[in-house]
Amino acid sequence: MSDFFENRLILVDEGYISRMSKAVVERITGELGTISKMGLFAGTREDELVYMYNTPVCDKGNICDTERCTNLHLINKKNGMTIVVVNWHRRGKHCYFAIIPTTLWQAFKALSKFSYYDIKSTHLYLKSRLDLKFMYLRKLHYNVMLRTVGKDAAEVLAGRANTVSARHYLMVEVDRLTEQVIEAWSNFGIQIER
Ligand SMILES: [Zn+2]
Repeated sequence: MSDFFENRLILVDEGYISRMSKAVVERITGELGTISKMGLFAGTREDELVYMYNTPVCDKGNICDTERCTNLHLINKKNGMTIVVVNWHRRGKHCYFAIIPTTLWQAFKALSKFSYYDIKSTHLYLKSRLDLKFMYLRKLHYNVMLRTVGKDAAEVLAGRANTVSARHYLMVEVDRLTEQVIEAWSNFGIQIER
């Protein structure tokens, strides 16, 4: 992504965010639906989606205390959300953790295959059905989060905050944050099954 694009200011229409998010949830079905919804609900970059698919989940669960463990760690909440601790870092870009509906996470990990090729296919389908680029799903997620969880938490979820801030949210605020994420989607007309 060019600096020009990153630094541009754009006006975002809340009606558009809501319409597009609902269209992704309601109108795209099957494997392309699962992939589209991961783009929307995880709000991560494409590299991070591929990493989450390819990286095994630690069998010690959230009690694993090995700092060198490179697997994903999950925290399943009773409210229907799963916190996926990702710890992906490349050249100043981060993905600390994502808060994703549990049923969606399970459907994503159960895909028989997932690669950049599948993102490309999903992108082309979204373009033709909804005139929406796959990379715009991440922007929708950020805009939905921003209005409810606040800027600091939205930056953490988008992987643009520093590690100290991310660690604070994961260790101290994460229960409240999962509730706020549910509320954020609800504010845009999307109900998460509990
Ligand atoms: Zn582990």
